[in-house]
Amino acid sequence: MTHYDLLIQNGRVIDAQTRFDDIADIAISKGKIERIDSEINRNLAKSTINAIGQWVIPGMIDTHVHVANATNFGKVKGIGLQMVAAAGATTVIDLGGSMEEMAEGINTRGSGVNVGGLGYLKPGETVPEGRLSSDTILEIVATALEAGSLGIKLWGGYYPFTPEETARFIATANDLGGYVAYHVGTTKSGSRLDGLRELPELLGNRGRVHIAHVNAYCRGSILPVNDEIHEALNIISELRDQVVSEVHLARPNFTLGKCDENGKVLADVVGNCLKLKNYTPTDEGIRAALYDNYASTVETTSNGLVLVTGERGIKLFDAAKTDITMSFPVNNATAAFQLTASKNADNEFIIDAIASDAGALPRNINIEQAMRMVKFGGLEPIEMVAKLSYNPARMVGLTSKGRLSVGHDADITIIDPVKGSASHGIVAGELIMSEGNVLGKSGTILTTARGERKINSYELDYEVIDTTQALMYSGRN
Ligand SMILES: [Zn+2]
Repeated sequence: MTHYDLLIQNGRVIDAQTRFDDIADIAISKGKIERIDSEINRNLAKSTINAIGQWVIPGMIDTHVHVANATNFGKVKGIGLQMVAAAGATTVIDLGGSMEEMAEGINTRGSGVNVGGLGYLKPGETVPEGRLSSDTILEIVATALEAGSLGIKLWGGYYPFTPEETARFIATANDLGGYVAYHVGTTKSGSRLDGLRELPELLGNRGRVHIAHVNAYCRGSILPVNDEIHEALNIISELRDQVVSEVHLARPNFTLGKCDENGKVLADVVGNCLKLKNYTPTDEGIRAALYDNYASTVETTSNGLVLVTGERGIKLFDAAKTDITMSFPVNNATAAFQLTASKNADNEFIIDAIASDAGALPRNINIEQAMRMVKFGGLEPIEMVAKLSYNPARMVGLTSKGRLSVGHDADITIIDPVKGSASHGIVAGELIMSEGNVLGKSGTILTTARGERKINSYELDYEVIDTTQALMYSGRN
C-alpha cells in the first residue's frame, strides 16, 4: 500500500527557516510536505526521485521576472514561463504586466509555475497622459488590484512620474494593502543612485516599497562604483523597516532602444548606458555601439530570446524602427557580489533576495550565479537558500512557501552542485522540470481577494494570498 505521492530520497536537504542542513528524505502527499526523516520506506511512495549527491531546497521564488507583456520583451506568448521553469523557479512575480496577457501566456505556454503579477504603469496605456490627480491615482491602483494583480510596479527608468505622483502611487498602494515595486527614478532624478537618494523623501515615515534590482543603480554613473555601492547599502539600511529589495547577478541589462523623431533615445537607462562609454544618446549612438559590439539587440527564437550584436544587430534595430529590446554589458560584478553578501551590524542581509529580472530575457541565472557565490565563499549554502527562497516568500507574504517543513507547500527545487544548476523543479508535489526539460503545464495565478472575481473568469487555477502579510507590511520580526 502506498501512502505518499512522491518521495525525494537521499538529498542534502537545506532549509533556511529551520536552519536544517542534513541528508534526509522528504515525503509528499496532496501537494504538501508530509514527512521529513533520515530514512523513509520507498515502498510507501507512488514515485520517487533519487537526489543522492544533490541539494534539495524549498522551491526557488523569483520576485522579479518578466513573463507577461509590459515591455514586449519576448513576443512569443508565455515563453518566459518556460524559461523560468527550466531555470528551477517554482514561483515567480511578474514585475509589470497585464494579467490578461499573463493568463494567455499561462494558457499557451504555462510551465506549472505559480505566477503573481504587478500592474504596470505606462502613460497612454494604463495611465492617462499628463499630470495625475490623487483620485486618478487611486482609480489606477484599484483597477490593477481588481484585474487580479498583487499590486503595482513603478517603472521610474522608463516612465518616470513626478516625485509627488510617485509618492502618491506608493502611498495609495500602501493604503489599499497592495504590493508595490519601484524601479527608481522620477522626473527629478534618474534610474541611478540619485533615484535611491530621493527615496527617503518619497516614502516619508510610513511609505513601504520593494526596491527593484538595486545593482542597476550602482554602475558608476554618479560616483565611483564602490562609493555608489556603499551609499546604496546605507540608504537601504536606513529604510530597513520600510523597504524590501533584491539584486540580480547577471552582467547584461535589458532595455528599450526606442528613439523619438529627432533620433533622441527615450529611455533614461539607454542614455546612461551609451554615455558610460561616450556614445551619444541617439539612434546614431546606438548604431555605433552595436557596430562596436558594446550594445546588443535581441531576436526571438523558439527557445527564448538571444542577443545579437554587430551589423546584424544594426539591421534588426533599423527594421524595428528603433523600437526594439537592447542590451548592454553594464551590470557591475563587484556591485552584484557586494550588494548580495553585505550584512548589517545585526548580521542580517541588507538586500533581501536574489531575483533575476529575467523571465523572457535570457539571463535566468539566479541559481547558477548563487552557486558560484557559494563556491567562492561569498554565501553559505543556507544563506543562498534564504536569498533564493525563504526571503522571497516572506517578501511576497507566501506563508506556506519558502520552507521545507511538514505541512508546507511541496514546492521544491533540486540543485546539482557539480553542474551548479537546477536539476528538478517540483510544484505542489508535481514534477515540472527535470534536467532542464519543462514538463509542467498551465500554472497557478497568485492573486488577492480583490482580484479573485476577475481571475476566476480565466478558468485557470489560482490562489488568493494576503499581501498585507508581505514583509514590507508585516514587519521584520
Ligand atoms: Zn524588471
